Amino acid sequence: MNILVLNCGSSSIKFQVIATDLERIEKNTDERLAHGIVEFHGGQAIVTLSAEGKAAHHSTAPLRDTRAAVKLILNWVISKESEVKAIKSKSDIHAVGHRVVHGGEKFKASVLITGEVLSDIEECIELAPLHNSANIQGINASREIFGEEMPNIAVFDTAFHQTLSEKAFLYALPYQLYRRHKIRRYGFHGTSHRYVAYRFRQLEKIEREKVNIITLHLGNGCSAAAIKNGDSIDTSMGMTPLEGLVMGTRAGDFDPAIIDFIAAKEGLSALEIESLVNKQSGLLGISGLTNDMRELLAEAKENGDRRARLAIEIFCYRASKYIGAYLAAMNGADAIVFTGGIGENSPEVRRLICEKLSWMGIEIDPLLNETFSNGSEGIISKDKARVKVYVIPTNEELLIARDAVRLTSNDASGL
Ligand code: ADP
Repeated sequence: MNILVLNCGSSSIKFQVIATDLERIEKNTDERLAHGIVEFHGGQAIVTLSAEGKAAHHSTAPLRDTRAAVKLILNWVISKESEVKAIKSKSDIHAVGHRVVHGGEKFKASVLITGEVLSDIEECIELAPLHNSANIQGINASREIFGEEMPNIAVFDTAFHQTLSEKAFLYALPYQLYRRHKIRRYGFHGTSHRYVAYRFRQLEKIEREKVNIITLHLGNGCSAAAIKNGDSIDTSMGMTPLEGLVMGTRAGDFDPAIIDFIAAKEGLSALEIESLVNKQSGLLGISGLTNDMRELLAEAKENGDRRARLAIEIFCYRASKYIGAYLAAMNGADAIVFTGGIGENSPEVRRLICEKLSWMGIEIDPLLNETFSNGSEGIISKDKARVKVYVIPTNEELLIARDAVRLTSNDASGL
């Protein structure tokens, strides 16, 4: 089957076309056929489209909305000029998989989208207004363009964390706020945590129930998850993606009383503070330079920039503390898994996060650690370390495509 995977955000649409089926999933031989991104800048969009193994096409187009962008993507994918392998017409696409950010308490796994599912996703809009609205626009565009018969699948960022127990997901706020407004920890990046947990189980050749690991997704957004007996039992992002680790531009954990204090001192509105803690904080806020970890590492090394170094230090310190907390929550883990742009590519960040954890049995082999900086997969811990440390590149799009195959083949076993 050829699956179109759509990740529709408020300012961009990313897509991939992936050839996969139940046999390919089993053999791990799925194949990406094309990928690209449409970035909206006012009425104009910057479009980058690539068929696998071919040079990328760059262009601009006056695209009004998500529907126009999905149409452009489809027209390019099926065109002769794009040379996308195995795709010649619309009928060569067999299902569309959508990333949906918030599934609330309703969605505990990926689902085939029906009218009822769509209204349930709409009900989650208030939990993630920008994200879910954009995701729904993508679903509606796909339903219009491909017609009623095309299976559309929703894969939720929150679903993997629906196994959290009340003690992990409830905040110590008045309980009626949970009852009335569903204020609780949901967690995000679930597709990524689930994918790397699955790869870990394959690499270790163990059953799902034997997976006891801490996964660290360190990209622009960052989150940690405690996975016990294959299920997520705790995670660092909360009701929204703001909570937890230090991120590119998000503050992560901080005292909520600071919000009122800033409002009074700086004369900022609630909306301005929301933007400050989500878009101007984290690595960018501390360094005053950039949200990009690679640039910060270079600044610290080449120019000895003090605040760049401080941003890296705070980032790593917070991540170490979460590992410690999750080791306690899980009564010990068998492995730590690093993923995301930073986790997959930065030996220095991994070293700084793990260097204070040796008495817990977490010891990185310095030479092995250095060899993982280009998206490859494997172990970086010392041979005799009690806890293994892995680097496993994430692949959320692949998991979305695979869930689409499973749901259209009535095989729920891997969901
Ligand atoms: P997103 O969360 O948007 O998908 P990524 O997972 O691609 O983002 O992660 C982006 C982050 O990864 C950026 O901070 C970037 O600097 C960092 N990164 C990528 N390559 C490296 C590298 N070689 N060393 C350090 N950081 C890196």
